[in-house]
Amino acid sequence: MDKGKELKKLEDEIAADNSLPLRESNLVFGEGGPESKVVFIGEAPGFNEDREKRPFVGRAGQLLRQCIRDINWKETDVYITNIVKRRPPENRDPLPDEIESYKPYLTRQLAIIKPKIIVALGRFSMNYFLPEAKISRDRGKVFRFDDFLLFPIYHPAAALRSTQMKEEFEKDFKKLPKILEKADTLLAEKHPEKKKEEQSAQEKLF
Ligand code: URA
Repeated sequence: MDKGKELKKLEDEIAADNSLPLRESNLVFGEGGPESKVVFIGEAPGFNEDREKRPFVGRAGQLLRQCIRDINWKETDVYITNIVKRRPPENRDPLPDEIESYKPYLTRQLAIIKPKIIVALGRFSMNYFLPEAKISRDRGKVFRFDDFLLFPIYHPAAALRSTQMKEEFEKDFKKLPKILEKADTLLAEKHPEKKKEEQSAQEKLF
């Protein structure tokens, strides 16, 4: 089956899963190219995303999408989604059990797309993959996580709140084309003789 069809099937499965929390909100599954080499992952949909059933369409989303265009990528060349696929009430932070409930679906979504780079947008998304990492210290660094490169950057909503964070957000963003160019080499640097558990997910690559 092609990846687009597999993603659609997964979306239908989430929509039908009555055990999931936050079912009073709309499902915001994700969008972009199913063959994307880069997946951007936020925290959870907000008001605008819930209304449009599309990720990152509010003010923060506009900044994210502008930055994607500024590095001469098309929005259809990347995939955009969230850890939690439905809006928490009043945009509160997702609760640990909500994150856990949606986790198997995000895992399967990534297994279908098989990106080379996951861009974790903000602290929540970064700590989902790297619980010990600190966004102010570790943003803009490339880590390895399973078969992906993980690149945490500030959340675009944080970039909208502070000039300094916006500068850093844009600076980190501009590193993406080079990281993609080097992705195969960086991913090949995996030490095959080591067991997976022994490989530090937090290995900083550059
Ligand atoms: N913030 C997020 O984390 N995700 C969205 O989709 C929108 C805003």
